[in-house]
Amino acid sequence: MTAEIQVTRALFDDVMVPNYAPAKLIPVKGQGARVWDQEGREYIDFAGGIAVSSLGHCHPALVNALKTQAEKLWHLSNVLTNEPALRLAKKLVDATFAEKVYFCNSGAEANEAAFKLVRRWALDNFDESKQEIISFGKSFHGRTFFTVTVGGQASYSDGFGPKPGAIVHAEFNNLDSVKALISDKTCAIVVEPIQGEGGIIPGDAAFLKGLRELCDQHNALLVFDEVQTGVGRTGQLYAYMNYGVTPDILTTAKSLGGGFPVGAMLTTTAIAQHLKVGTHGSTYGGNPLACAVAEAAIDTINTPEVLEGVLKNEAIFRECLATINAEHKVFAEVRGKGMLLGAVLNEQYKGRSREFFLAAADHGLFALVAGTDVVRFAPSLVITEAEIREGMKRFASAVAQVVKG
Ligand SMILES: *Cc1c(COP(=O)(O)O)cnc(C)c1O
Repeated sequence: MTAEIQVTRALFDDVMVPNYAPAKLIPVKGQGARVWDQEGREYIDFAGGIAVSSLGHCHPALVNALKTQAEKLWHLSNVLTNEPALRLAKKLVDATFAEKVYFCNSGAEANEAAFKLVRRWALDNFDESKQEIISFGKSFHGRTFFTVTVGGQASYSDGFGPKPGAIVHAEFNNLDSVKALISDKTCAIVVEPIQGEGGIIPGDAAFLKGLRELCDQHNALLVFDEVQTGVGRTGQLYAYMNYGVTPDILTTAKSLGGGFPVGAMLTTTAIAQHLKVGTHGSTYGGNPLACAVAEAAIDTINTPEVLEGVLKNEAIFRECLATINAEHKVFAEVRGKGMLLGAVLNEQYKGRSREFFLAAADHGLFALVAGTDVVRFAPSLVITEAEIREGMKRFASAVAQVVKG
């Protein structure tokens, strides 16, 4: 018999690999857009588990899907298929440009599959010279070695030995910088329609359209990483639908499972055929529990009420942030779309986003940062107006505290 374990924040430092620096509090319960910690203190959640808890905490539709599936069948692996995976794939295909779906467990894995697929597609259709992937500065595509190397922050990929090659970075929203790099050696351009981790920077419509044209001119594939922007977050099921630009491959995760780990890569039949039997795989990909929850998430989110609600919530967020800014003058602008917003700190407060994040937690509000200059909000898509206004009251107190110094 072991003695009962005292679960405190100090235990983290004792037993966990030190690659994270979590806050002092430990949440134990969540309901909708509210969370409670070990001490029973209540928080409004504008972080949403970093754009994951798309329907808030413990949404009844997701709880029901999980419980129902948990009593039927948990896992098979891919030597057998299963009903939830096939239903979810059919719904994703019906709702998007895609004709084929590959399931995995995370955003990085969805991108890893996409990047391997573009290389294989190029090898099958052209020759070994066509391997180059163009990506963008400040982009983020996950933490596996391939995805971190495609990502635009060298500090995430340096220091692990030789990197995967044939990856170049252009400047986001600068089409000329892409024209300078693209050639017949390019097999794909990889882009987030709104850069998330990089600072909530929306792609210009003309830029994204231009990428589509350049890909068509050079026989390259256009990959949209919608891991953060997908599943209703911008008021459309996927952000590409806001732009009228259709990618060849789309990756999705985060909001897809509403808190249950699941990811997917969507593409066309013609491209998908290059991942033949045996070329790629995942033990858990398409797991029945994950797919049952994601199916319930898609059913709930892909409705006019929820998608229109996201844009209504955006308007309330912007109104509240404008009021706070009129009083305290801390933001230069508010960027982003729907329930993916970034309040950009002005010159005076540049580099201090973490102070706002910590002050917010002190006042009972979970926010996020996106780099050092942006306070990010990625709450539940179905957060109520009352919860937004209460959260903003707390955020106003936090901002006042930072301003007071
Ligand atoms: C979070 C994120 C990823 C990585 O997803 P994981 O589930 O953490 O692997 C990839 N791309 C974008 C745009 C993201 O925001």
